Amino acid sequence: MSGTRDETGEGELAPAEAFSVIANETRLDILESLWEYEDRPIRFSALFSRTDLDDSAQFNYHLQELTDQFVVKTEAGYDLSHTGGQVIRALRAGTYTHSPEVDPFEVPGECTHCGGPLESSYEDEQFTITCRNCGKAHGKYPFPPGGLEDRTEAEIATAFDERVRHLHCLAADGVCPECAGRMHTTLTRQGECCLDVSLRAEHRCERCRHSLCSPVGLVLLDEAPVAAFYDDHGISLTDRPYWTLPWCVDDAYYDVQSTEPWRIEVAIPLDGEQLRVALDGELRVVETTRESCDGTTECVSHD
Ligand SMILES: [Zn+2]
Ligand SMILES: [Zn+2]
Repeated sequence: MSGTRDETGEGELAPAEAFSVIANETRLDILESLWEYEDRPIRFSALFSRTDLDDSAQFNYHLQELTDQFVVKTEAGYDLSHTGGQVIRALRAGTYTHSPEVDPFEVPGECTHCGGPLESSYEDEQFTITCRNCGKAHGKYPFPPGGLEDRTEAEIATAFDERVRHLHCLAADGVCPECAGRMHTTLTRQGECCLDVSLRAEHRCERCRHSLCSPVGLVLLDEAPVAAFYDDHGISLTDRPYWTLPWCVDDAYYDVQSTEPWRIEVAIPLDGEQLRVALDGELRVVETTRESCDGTTECVSHD
């Protein structure tokens, strides 16, 4: 690498410099050509022929500028470094390049509040699911524009559902889905947010400050007792979009039993039976109680 290094880091580029190195069409073209060639490393001449450049001296100059930080050179030729791969993945996700227009479209399921039709809309790289009748929010979460390509509306809705589950599962486990930094979960009844619920979980990353908020029920999608309860009723929880599960989007299913320390009970009714799941302030399951319509109750402690 010919640029100057960050004085504090050992071999690390300062962020402004790293961005300036790749803020160049030719260099991005080189990274993309490398990425497209699956059988890497690739020889200098083979790589040159895959780019749009005619001048090999120019090509060599840009390749050297990328080398070490974004491109690695070995005896067998050139390859993408991990950072180079991240640049390509960010470009493929479309975050820096696309700002697509997506017309609102109807998604499967009904409003958990009024039974009305649900509609998704896309703005600022986020999907929002709202009731067309009463306007109740059923979640607003980020979705990179690259994920819209080559998918039908139904496929986009499914991918969005999968992604929301995955993001919240990571966040609730304390791992930032953006940077893998440490995430903290706090429960709050203060203020307003995009969710239309009075109690919500806020996950915030210490490292990159990425934040996500969710109704507390959303973290239960990943909990074995809840999946087992649905299985016993012949339903696979993963087949239902999260926004069709009322306890994932509506706070009528939450009972705050104490705040110091937090204990919240989420009621999950299903076909004449009910699973009650008690959570602590970090949204860990501490107890589950299963009640059937014939009056039998089964209580399990998860401490
Ligand atoms: Zn509604
Ligand atoms: Zn982060």
